Amino acid sequence: MSKVYQKPTKFQTKLFINGKFVDGVLKKTIPVINPASEELICEIAEATEQDVELAIDAAEAAFPIWSKLPQRDRTEYLLKLASLLEANKEEFIALESLNNGKPLEGATFDINDVIGHLRYYAGWADKITGKSFSSLDQQIFYTRREPYGVVGLISPWNFPLMMAEWKYAPALAAGNCIVLKPSEVTPLTVLRLCELVNEAGFPPGVFNVVPGYGHVAGVAITHSKRISKISFTGSSLVGRKILEASSKTNIKKVVLELGGKSPVVVFPDADLDKAAEVAWYGCMFNMGQSCDAGTRLFVHEDVYDKLLQKLKDYEQNVVIGDSFEVQNSNHGPLVSKLQFDRVMNYITHAKEVEKLECVMGGEKWGNKGYFIKPTIFVNVDENSKLAREEIFGPVLVVLKPWKTFDEVIKRANDTSYGLAAYAVTQNAGNVERFVREVKAGSFYINQGALSAHQMPFGGYKESGFGKDNGEEGLLEYTQLKSVYYSLPNPMV
Ligand code: NAD
Repeated sequence: MSKVYQKPTKFQTKLFINGKFVDGVLKKTIPVINPASEELICEIAEATEQDVELAIDAAEAAFPIWSKLPQRDRTEYLLKLASLLEANKEEFIALESLNNGKPLEGATFDINDVIGHLRYYAGWADKITGKSFSSLDQQIFYTRREPYGVVGLISPWNFPLMMAEWKYAPALAAGNCIVLKPSEVTPLTVLRLCELVNEAGFPPGVFNVVPGYGHVAGVAITHSKRISKISFTGSSLVGRKILEASSKTNIKKVVLELGGKSPVVVFPDADLDKAAEVAWYGCMFNMGQSCDAGTRLFVHEDVYDKLLQKLKDYEQNVVIGDSFEVQNSNHGPLVSKLQFDRVMNYITHAKEVEKLECVMGGEKWGNKGYFIKPTIFVNVDENSKLAREEIFGPVLVVLKPWKTFDEVIKRANDTSYGLAAYAVTQNAGNVERFVREVKAGSFYINQGALSAHQMPFGGYKESGFGKDNGEEGLLEYTQLKSVYYSLPNPMV
């Protein structure tokens, strides 16, 4: 990437409630750290329970206005927001890269996705329909879709603006008002977006943002009886807590987009250059901090050694460093000290306890920042901790080679997760069987992970339930009424 980006120096740091930027009631703050330098970027206001209550008050008050707008008006607000974001795109790319640590190239991918996705859902606002059914004379049967009211949205740090937008765009298009809690680690792009929300003229209270800790602001959202729908993206651990909160309060409806440990299966007929590309980027993209990363690599015994060599060759393309200092960096730091320590613990365990063979990386990089070199362990057994748990870092686990189709299907399915699955083969029959028998929500065949706006995204098994994206993602923010309507006899 030859473009030069300015390192951002100005930040929006307040909560956004009822169209205004405010301090938290308790005036607490949260430090936001640059993961490439470990330096403080700024302190943001921390939302606590009282702030979440105020945000819900504002959203409740705005709901009658927003939900009764002509649908076309909601389209226009979302389009305006997308255009404003596009006009300020470079600033958002730089801000996302600074706060999250992802290379500018990755941040560019994110912000472009957000702009397109906003426009996609803007187009849906006036296309929410019910159905009518043939019925007896003088009776009409029909269904009607309605927004919930105030919805709670909780998003993670790996694609900060994108994961938040995947939720608020369909929620708003469907006529809901939102209380959004971005990750406390990466709140800066969402807070800056709130300025654009005002510029786009959204009625106050429609869009509220309460950055805060999960155990404080997150818990306040998930326990509020005034919120009847939650959409959450994050770890399976917290997903369970959200279900528990739902069951203990008002049985709020829940969408859970959780973790993954996705298999990549390379068949003996695969184009090996393609297979290496899929395996490398499938795992290393976003420094392995992608829920649908292909982190368990299964290679057929006939091509195992050749593919490993091609994977090793990828190391020479890695440019590690702070995007604002190292031109064309394509491998940034992990997002936080906590995440860095978690991943290093997995690596240390693999080397020292399990004595696994590490053929690339396996160590930190540099004297500052949370950088970990792209890492590959080979010949790993299914029962290894590395093969079973979501590491969420740049660590590719190459399992022992496979021999038969039956065997690899069984091994690929031997996980509690089911978010995505990858296959590399030239045989359409292989693909058909793979898609039919592997338990996962998204399949990437002869290619890396992709998210097209129109394609529903969500997991099988402990990767969660409900969908983001596509029409299905929109319908998550509607509830359905069935109407049986008897009409009087017509005049004669
Ligand atoms: P996390 O679960 O720690 O946090 C996610 C969000 O939940 C944050 O905003 C956090 O503050 C909040 N939170 C934490 N505790 C909470 C609680 N008790 N109640 C309510 N909210 C709470 O996840 P993370 O570390 O930010 O993100 C990484 C995880 O997200 C990985 O497991 C990854 O696989 C998953 N993820 C899934 C998808 C998907 O679409 N399936 C996409 C991206 C990330």
